[in-house]
Amino acid sequence: MCDICVIEAVKERMLSRRAFFGAGAAGVAAAALGPVAAPPALAAGHGGVVDMTHTLSEVFPTFFGEPGISMAQEFNFADHGFNLYNLSINEHTATHIDAPLHFSADGTSVDEIAVGDLVVPLCVIHIHEKAASNPDAQVTPDDLGAWIDANGPIPDRACVAMHSGWGAKAGDQAAFTGRDGDGVLHFPGFHIEATQMLLEETTAAAIAVDTLSLDHGPSADFATHYAWLPAGRYGIENLAGLDQVPAAGATLVVGAPKHRGGTGGPARIFAMV
Ligand SMILES: [Zn+2]
Repeated sequence: MCDICVIEAVKERMLSRRAFFGAGAAGVAAAALGPVAAPPALAAGHGGVVDMTHTLSEVFPTFFGEPGISMAQEFNFADHGFNLYNLSINEHTATHIDAPLHFSADGTSVDEIAVGDLVVPLCVIHIHEKAASNPDAQVTPDDLGAWIDANGPIPDRACVAMHSGWGAKAGDQAAFTGRDGDGVLHFPGFHIEATQMLLEETTAAAIAVDTLSLDHGPSADFATHYAWLPAGRYGIENLAGLDQVPAAGATLVVGAPKHRGGTGGPARIFAMV
């Protein structure tokens, strides 16, 4: 082959490789294990990592008051030479995902959440001051407006997280659930008007709370769950570490579980700061 021919052949191969990788990037949904572009915040690099995950155990407070996990030891090191547990888990226990399917007839299940929506810019809405005097406090459109005034528009596909200060109460069932004599729970959550604002004015992929539910404790209609999740966006409950990350600029890495057809599940979540 002549020199020119070789150059032409190489050029052709490079072009076809480029076409191949281009098609691969566009076909991420179909080829679930293919790479996706790094979000700009992640591509810029970070100096540290914060664990945003509570330890999952049978004593972690739950919405229904029953232990959220049980562990049965099937093999032990003394008798078998290795340790192994069988787990029984309520999907909605400790730091976990609410997939769209949780509050819709046929929404996206947890294994189907796009991987690009699991590595997202983190926006932290601080309401811990008003929540300190009102356990039923909610994130309102004014709270979102204050964040936007200070930090600019909410980034595409962000996770918008409520920091109410409740994470510090997670070791205390009574304080964390706020269950009163009538069985009504008391803890902060997202007001439906703030939820609607995020749905209509942003492309946020997720909302997160440091409490047991996206809706505040006394909610009887679960308005935020029923508005947010059927819209194909997901939630995170019992997120930890929100007092250790900046209001803007961190990247949340959501290690969601991937059991087929799941409505959510415990997740290991980090913030790159
Ligand atoms: Zn849940």
